[in-house]
Amino acid sequence: MAAGGEVVVVGSGFGGAVAALRLAEKGYRVTVLEAGRRFADADFADSPWQAHRVLWAPRLGLTGIVRVRVRRHLLALTGIGVGGGSLAYAGVHHRPAAEVFRRPGWDRTVDWAAELAPFYALAERMMGTAPVPLPAGADTGDGVLGRVAADGGPAGASFRPVRAGVYFGAPGRPVPDPYFAGRGPERTGCTGCARCVLGCRVGAKNTLMKNYLHLAERLGARIRPLTSVIGLVPRPGGGWLVRTVPGGALVPRRRGATFRADQVVLAAGAWGTAELLHRCRAAGTLPGLSAALGSRTLTNREVLLAVSAPGFDVGPGVAVSSELRADDVTLVQLCRVGGGSHPLAALLCPLPGGGARALRRWPVRHFGGRTALLLAMEARESALTSRLRHGRLVLVPADGPREPARLPAAEAAARSFAERVAGSAYGWWWNTLLGLPFTAHLLGGCPIGTDPSTGVVDTGHRVHGHPTLHITDASVVPANLGCNPALTVTALAERAFAAWPAA
Ligand SMILES: Cc1cc2nc3c(=O)[nH]c(=O)nc-3n(C[C@H](O)[C@H](O)[C@H](O)COP(=O)(O)OP(=O)(O)OC[C@H]3O[C@@H](n4cnc5c(N)ncnc54)[C@H](O)[C@@H]3O)c2cc1C
Repeated sequence: MAAGGEVVVVGSGFGGAVAALRLAEKGYRVTVLEAGRRFADADFADSPWQAHRVLWAPRLGLTGIVRVRVRRHLLALTGIGVGGGSLAYAGVHHRPAAEVFRRPGWDRTVDWAAELAPFYALAERMMGTAPVPLPAGADTGDGVLGRVAADGGPAGASFRPVRAGVYFGAPGRPVPDPYFAGRGPERTGCTGCARCVLGCRVGAKNTLMKNYLHLAERLGARIRPLTSVIGLVPRPGGGWLVRTVPGGALVPRRRGATFRADQVVLAAGAWGTAELLHRCRAAGTLPGLSAALGSRTLTNREVLLAVSAPGFDVGPGVAVSSELRADDVTLVQLCRVGGGSHPLAALLCPLPGGGARALRRWPVRHFGGRTALLLAMEARESALTSRLRHGRLVLVPADGPREPARLPAAEAAARSFAERVAGSAYGWWWNTLLGLPFTAHLLGGCPIGTDPSTGVVDTGHRVHGHPTLHITDASVVPANLGCNPALTVTALAERAFAAWPAA
């Protein structure tokens, strides 16, 4: 590990927040640069209609927490703002099965399952992981998913509440910090409003601002919101110049501050880190970057389905509450969107075979209550490759299986769910009509590996050829996890920073 006390962290999501806290604890002077805004709980949207608080498109005056990118081969959602993806995420924490780390992509010199185990436990403690308390009743969304699982043979044993980073104290009641012996912020018990992905105005979701980033700032780490990194230049004799532009302006400005650092940690997420490195390579500032940059860009093989029925009530709760295994590789989770979400109905499309009946029952009225969303993730191998075209990141399919726009095991679960509630199953028009894959869990693009021809970073997360440049975000995950990835990104980052010496 090269010495140097001044560290710039690019991005304030899971990997960046761990960097900020662990390096501040070790005595480094840490500055976190974040493209998005800083939010207090009261700044989050209380309805999906408040697009300016939900979506990020500054040229349209929208400076919210979710960025939507559409490319020919993918529709991708990513989080933006101080706290990164934790602002918009549903809070689900999932440890992948041990066999996931034996799949192609994971470097064989490390026993990942064994090495990461203590860091998963640490990440769960830090982010307050707890089983979601399910509402009673066989007819709620969770009850119905349980019946789908029970009637599906061996898969029945796999039904369970998900684990989430949410404070489940007395609903709506504020309490002093229950997690960090008084060093953390006040928390409020979850009210079950299901608006987790709008940001959580209640203060129950354990976003990174409630744990890692809060504690890092107490130790002196500085966070600069609305600061977007556009270039990295190595300084003669060591260290870095980090070039930025102001983020979030209606009219983009060309120039912002330049920061000096002894070491740089890239944690801009799978999209942001790959895009920045591609730009640096195009500008010629990072010679010797691995040819593997952009390879193994992964969608986590996701499909989002919906089941709606006039007499059905999904029930109150967090945005994602329970799950079943539809087969050996497919996980299906029950999601709810809360009241006031009927604009989403315009994006639905009956699953093939649903036809006229599904059209007649179009779930516009009371959409949030009458609709269960089913998020499916599949732990199989397939990948895209990212490249820079006209200054923008584009994605092209790699050799091998294509990204799915539909997953048969998930559709079978959705139809079974629909039968039990006398409802209809729907996909989303970009999947069902256009065949466009979708992901909220983009991974990869800077795979981890000892061999610089197939890995961008070594197993200590240092960029091959640039030992004072580090990557600790979802871009280093080298294979589809088939489950929600934020806990794994956090555990990988905890493992990486545990190996840094004191400043
Ligand atoms: C709606 C939604 C719901 C989700 N729900 C879950 C869930 O329940 N469980 C789960 O495990 N995962 C969930 N995810 C996925 C999860 O959010 C991501 O896997 C996770 O955030 C990735 O962490 P990261 O550290 O790689 O980067 P991120 O958390 O994405 O953070 C990267 C940060 O870097 C910033 N950035 C990017 N480029 C630059 C730049 N050039 N300069 C400065 N800053 C930059 C971004 O603004 C962002 O804040 C969800 C995602 C979405 C969109």
